Amino acid sequence: MYLSIVLALICGLAPLQSATRESRWWMEEPIRLLQTNLRETDSTVDGQRLVRQVADFPANTLLFNLGGIVAQYPTDVELHYASPHLPPGRDLFGDVLREAHARGIRVIGRFDFSKTQKPVFDAHPEWFFKRTNGEPAIYNGLYSACINGKYYREHALAILTEALERYEVDGLFFNMFGNPSTDYSGDPMGPCQCDACKVRFQARYGRPLPTTRDDDDYAEFMAASAREVAAMFADLIHRKRPGAAFLTYMQEHTDGIMSESNTGVERPLPLWPYSASDNVNRARNSEPTKMAFNLCMSFVDYAWRFVTVPQGEIQLRLYQNMAHGGPPAMAMLGTMDQEDRHGLLAAQPVFRWHAQHEDLYVGQESAARVLLLGGDQRSYRGFFRLLSEQHIPFAVSDNLDWLHERSRTFDLVIAPSGAPAELDRYVRDGGALLVAGTAPPTLPVGRVVGQRPHTRASWRIHDASMLPSLKHTKLLLLDGEYVELAPLEKPLLTLIPPAMFGPPEKVWVDKVETEIPGLVFANHGKGRLAYIPWDVGGLYYRHSSQGHAGLMADVIDRLLPEGRQIKTTAHPLVEITLMTQPARKRTLLHLVNLSGHSDTAYFEPIEMRDITVEAAQDFTRATAVGLDQELPVTRVNGSSRFTLPRLGAYEVVVLQ
Ligand SMILES: [Zn+2]
Repeated sequence: MYLSIVLALICGLAPLQSATRESRWWMEEPIRLLQTNLRETDSTVDGQRLVRQVADFPANTLLFNLGGIVAQYPTDVELHYASPHLPPGRDLFGDVLREAHARGIRVIGRFDFSKTQKPVFDAHPEWFFKRTNGEPAIYNGLYSACINGKYYREHALAILTEALERYEVDGLFFNMFGNPSTDYSGDPMGPCQCDACKVRFQARYGRPLPTTRDDDDYAEFMAASAREVAAMFADLIHRKRPGAAFLTYMQEHTDGIMSESNTGVERPLPLWPYSASDNVNRARNSEPTKMAFNLCMSFVDYAWRFVTVPQGEIQLRLYQNMAHGGPPAMAMLGTMDQEDRHGLLAAQPVFRWHAQHEDLYVGQESAARVLLLGGDQRSYRGFFRLLSEQHIPFAVSDNLDWLHERSRTFDLVIAPSGAPAELDRYVRDGGALLVAGTAPPTLPVGRVVGQRPHTRASWRIHDASMLPSLKHTKLLLLDGEYVELAPLEKPLLTLIPPAMFGPPEKVWVDKVETEIPGLVFANHGKGRLAYIPWDVGGLYYRHSSQGHAGLMADVIDRLLPEGRQIKTTAHPLVEITLMTQPARKRTLLHLVNLSGHSDTAYFEPIEMRDITVEAAQDFTRATAVGLDQELPVTRVNGSSRFTLPRLGAYEVVVLQ
């Protein structure tokens, strides 16, 4: 401690606050995170130099290997092994921690309890994952532990106790928490058949364990098992180190929610260029009291751990993290001495920007008045992209906890593939709800006649005055199932069933019109809802039809009587988020330029010019941080208007 204070004074840094449960550094400090994901052969790395590289990057939080598969310190816990490459007597983690703290860098220790070494299996085979053929799951000589066995539930706690008592860590991160469905090569693991799983599953579901993994009860069982262990880890960490954060890929019991923006060569196209926005928006707004750590995974796929994804992709992810209230966070395999430097070179200017303007990134909260719920991935992504392209600020939530928090209200909730019945009260109390998809509605909106199978049909548009974005078309495409609703007195859309489409001479010669509605509005209590009984989100995700975009935008506008929060001339590929910093009494408008993305490529974005923004709020000052320029603000009908003269990859406008 003495050394760190002396060093801190020499370096002109304030020593790190030893945090208490009340002070949660991950919510109160600006964070720039680097993860050096060490191999066991990296145990000889020069810790001092590595920390210097991290500090110079400039990062202020280091996610660094501590224990589990191998320990990067001389552990005294039985059946826990130091890296075979760790020189005798060396404490790599301790050295790095001391050096980092002396430089004001937070350190999060990394554990992986999902696998361990053969002697542990030989001593306690019952702690381990058992395949349906009775064999253990072995990968590169390591044995998979089972989340329900005592390796996770007892032995890990002994290892964590040692680490927490020995090291003043700022947090612990757990990789691969729980039983994965596949191994690193993508081969399925199947459901674990160990005795602990057998007993627990039988007790919970009153039937034997399934032998295949595609079983809803089993999925729920695995998630519940991981939550149980997470609760134990959280409790231990909070007791031993009240100021340390518990981090893993889970919303429950954690202090920070980990996620990754990553790629995989087998993944179906299209790419999802909103990956980081999606992860951070969802985590921050599902659990607003927790930080979202979205790691930008620099590698292309497991087989190419040292080859990085395009530089434009890396920068886009990091800017999106920041625009949605998370820190820039970058992960690499091995040390900072990378053979492919593209990833680090791309991330560095973003980290420098953050260091220069770190006050912008503390205590951000979403100011969005529209909430997007999760759902079928394609349907959800269709709405996600549409909202972003339309510059409608929105928050994403996986849960309905906000229904019970008076401070969190929304003008409109969008359920892209069916709405939970719990939303009934929200609507009756005056909320607006847009439901889409082929799950029959749980709220009173239209009378269901029946569910219809996959249909290649069209929707007839009747009244363009009600749907002004559709004034140049009378048709929308339907390729999928739909829910047939009873006819309406004044329909806006009606179904044109499949008709002949070839040869050209015969096209639609047999076409008929129906009264089956494709959109219905209803009042409910003091609120209003709309139902689109087909998968418009999924179709937009797949085809980007301007008809589907226009329909979604017009329905949203009809449900927003006060109008949109933002009106702008920005190109659809400029992502705009609206955040507040309540403690600083100001609003931040982030602009992320996605124009560098095309097909499978990410390039430097094209510079945009003269973006006018009208925000439905009373501001007198607009400061463009990157341009270092005050923008003249004019007031128009209760809104504040300014023009951003230039946008490169990213900009923040501070509104006061
Ligand atoms: Zn098991």
